[in-house]
Amino acid sequence: MVRKKYNVIIIGGGIGGLSIGSLLSKNMKVLILEKNSTFGGYCSDFKKGEFEFESAVHTINGLYKNNPVYTILEKADALKGIRITQPKYLYRTIFPDYDITVPQKNLDGYKRMLFSLFPKEEENITDIFDVMKSLYTETKRFHIEKSLKRSPFILKYGRRSLKYLLNRFIKDDRLKAIIAQYWLYRGLPPGKLAATTFSYIWYDYTVNGSYFPDTGMVSIIKNMISSIKKNGSDVLGDSEVFRLQAKGDKIVAVELKNGNRLGADIFISNIDVFNTFEMIENGNNKDIKLYLDCLKKNAISISAFKIYLGLNIDVRDLGIKDYEIFLNPRYDMDAMYEASIKNEFEKTPYVITICSNLANVFCKKGHSVISIGALSEYDYWRKLSRAEYAKKKEETIDVILKRCSKILPDVYKYIDVKIAATPLTMERYTGNSKGSVYGWSKRSLLEEIKFMSPTTPIKNLFLSSHWTKIGGGVAGVLLSTDRVYNLLNQKKQ
Ligand SMILES: Cc1cc2nc3c(=O)[nH]c(=O)nc-3n(C[C@H](O)[C@H](O)[C@H](O)COP(=O)(O)OP(=O)(O)OC[C@H]3O[C@@H](n4cnc5c(N)ncnc54)[C@H](O)[C@@H]3O)c2cc1C
Repeated sequence: MVRKKYNVIIIGGGIGGLSIGSLLSKNMKVLILEKNSTFGGYCSDFKKGEFEFESAVHTINGLYKNNPVYTILEKADALKGIRITQPKYLYRTIFPDYDITVPQKNLDGYKRMLFSLFPKEEENITDIFDVMKSLYTETKRFHIEKSLKRSPFILKYGRRSLKYLLNRFIKDDRLKAIIAQYWLYRGLPPGKLAATTFSYIWYDYTVNGSYFPDTGMVSIIKNMISSIKKNGSDVLGDSEVFRLQAKGDKIVAVELKNGNRLGADIFISNIDVFNTFEMIENGNNKDIKLYLDCLKKNAISISAFKIYLGLNIDVRDLGIKDYEIFLNPRYDMDAMYEASIKNEFEKTPYVITICSNLANVFCKKGHSVISIGALSEYDYWRKLSRAEYAKKKEETIDVILKRCSKILPDVYKYIDVKIAATPLTMERYTGNSKGSVYGWSKRSLLEEIKFMSPTTPIKNLFLSSHWTKIGGGVAGVLLSTDRVYNLLNQKKQ
């Protein structure tokens, strides 16, 4: 007999689990179970020496007042005392022939810049931007109205790739790569990435801006934990769930690695979706197996390799004032993605984030905190022996830093701290299958509509996290939170 002390048990203390936990704890007794001693999942930080590093996240879209992403965090008491800041520029992007700084929230300025670089494509640029704006507007409306009735652009381009859209409007391959820079944030090249998915993130960042808490993601996480505790609910670290005990079509208890069994009326999984269903014991096995088989047919997002650097120099003194820099070795995005799959890092693009150029909480004066990320495929790393893995990791750091020295001259001279994370690290730390960065692969909006529901064949088990609608990225996870919260509230009434 399991004692039921909680209305809701949430598995996984990432931003999804904590935000839904914080909202529910206002009128329910909630327990959040996190396997690590620290909370936040990909939205956590870590300290090394005198430097503080963001584990993963560097910019968030949609985090502005009166927008759902912001409102959800506000309702979850996550933003108390936090200033949401904006980098001065959206990003700087470097290609073999171009070095462009994209302005924040200034579509006209960006257009004018592109017109001056590609005068023959003025009309084409205007046309593709108009289409992408319509796709954004319709996608946003779709998520509210749950209908595609007023969505002529989604109906026209919903099954099309970004590549199709680019080829339809733009002639110059260099311009295509410049416009499509955010493909990296979706983890898929234009040939595989849905035009709608790209258009949404492109418009939201380019027109509405990029945001970040000036005290780091961890301040959002800490606020939610203290709110949950203040509301009389519990948040437990070092509490890995390894079994979900079912009876018929309901979960009755979670079992922790330490042997504890805990019961509740409702269970929400904010962890890897495959792991969730593999952990279920004694349930209606046929249904669960079918469900799992169906899930396994869908592609998951790629992982990443990340370098974290603590430098004993303020890079602003070297004239580097940017926050986010994309470094592209060429224009062929499909080829760059293929190189990421093969882990040929000399041929892949990087995103360099200089956190200390945005806020001064990451290191002391006269120092810098930098991270460099590249898409990276998991299976390659998994197959290596321990010795090969260590060697490849060091080689990769060298390859990446050598290429980055074009914009971070003499970087080696100033390194106090140097750490690297591979797809295996991502998987180990968060439990996301194959170190998936965003949960499911962002292929097509129409596919997402079909299968990523927060409800499951188990009546009292719900899914939040980047594995459910609306999917990957902080903004997507928070919109999923809202969906699960509303669903549970409707059930209560
Ligand atoms: C390198 C990288 C860069 C990124 N950059 C950005 C960015 O700039 N902007 C952006 O919007 N998004 C970014 N993302 C994506 C974003 O971080 C994620 O989509 C989002 O944080 C996922 O949140 P989540 O709550 O769904 O899950 P997670 O963060 O994966 O949290 C899951 C939590 O569950 C815990 N857990 C797992 N298994 C168990 C278990 N059995 N028992 C108990 N606890 C368990 C884990 O330890 C973890 O804390 C990035 C991701 C990566 C990897």
